[in-house]
Amino acid sequence: MRDWREGVRRVTPYVPGEQPGQARMIKLNTNENPYPPAPGVERALREMQAEKFRLYPDPEARMLVEALAEFYGVRPSQVFVGVGSDDVLAMAFLTFFNSELPILFPDITYSFYDVWAGLFRIPYCQIPLDEQFRIVPGDYERENGGIVFPNPNAPTGEELSLEAIERILDSNRGSVVIVDEAYVDFGAATALPLLEKYENLLVVQTFSKSRSMAGMRIGFCIGNEELIACLNDVKYSFNSYTMDQTALILGTAALRDREYFEKTRAKVIETREWAKTELRRLGFRFGDSKANFIFASHESVPAREIYQALREQHIYVRYFDKPRIDNYLRITVGNREEMETFFRFLEAWLKERLLSE
Ligand code: PMP
Repeated sequence: MRDWREGVRRVTPYVPGEQPGQARMIKLNTNENPYPPAPGVERALREMQAEKFRLYPDPEARMLVEALAEFYGVRPSQVFVGVGSDDVLAMAFLTFFNSELPILFPDITYSFYDVWAGLFRIPYCQIPLDEQFRIVPGDYERENGGIVFPNPNAPTGEELSLEAIERILDSNRGSVVIVDEAYVDFGAATALPLLEKYENLLVVQTFSKSRSMAGMRIGFCIGNEELIACLNDVKYSFNSYTMDQTALILGTAALRDREYFEKTRAKVIETREWAKTELRRLGFRFGDSKANFIFASHESVPAREIYQALREQHIYVRYFDKPRIDNYLRITVGNREEMETFFRFLEAWLKERLLSE
């Protein structure tokens, strides 16, 4: 007799950073924003009527799509929205990465890419970053079924210049190139201006980081109309109503307050730059992160040990037990007070730890 287990789609799932749920903790492990969403979001939430939930939401998510089109100066037909950028990326993998040729992405990058490739049975090839953890555009000049990378890259925070991105786009006009800009608002240049020249470019962004709405699950991408139409066909073949009523209303409210957005992202950038000087003072090495996290390695104490010591104090950072990066910590930039507590403990602990050697 056939065993049902033989017919199961076996996958190796993505492991998200933990959400410990403690009352008193400093959470610097999943790149959330330390500031609340724009005040207009809270107001819109209070004005919402549960009675409206009786009806299905707009499957075209017009309200949010139009607000995004206006904010970024593109046409609504160039915008696609999803349940976080994870949903948008998954949909894009399913839609555009559909050949026998391997898709390309860096060896050190967002660890969901190989998971989606596994789920959708997409062949892939991971291209090593150079010694300084940088993407080398020339390495992407080979036959492929598509290309994806974050800019800035995760978990390194390294920015790839627009010239380098353009080189990748130009030498791969036969493939869709996805630039995952989850962290772009913290100081890197967006690839959006390249859309005019490259019909194979898809730019993915999220409300989870710079708009402080990770809990709301809103992501989007911008590309040429034909790419977006292909994405919509796949979406409607999967789930017509990906965006719920709440996400549509609150996401739109967030976009209305440009000033708050500018102010909070500037505060994160300022705290990041200050945190870099503190980390340097304590003996850490790191690249020039343009994201809301710093990927750092201590000159003498193993990352795993520091991670454990912080954890015992209910200070959570991210540690990846993976080749090439197992001596690094990815530290999300919290607010100034959180970072001061973090550094106070770290400084005292490191002093004691180094004395005991
Ligand atoms: N891309 C990158 C590079 C990320 O780090 C994340 C956050 N885990 C995402 C996409 C997905 O974020 P979200 O689904 O919250 O938009």
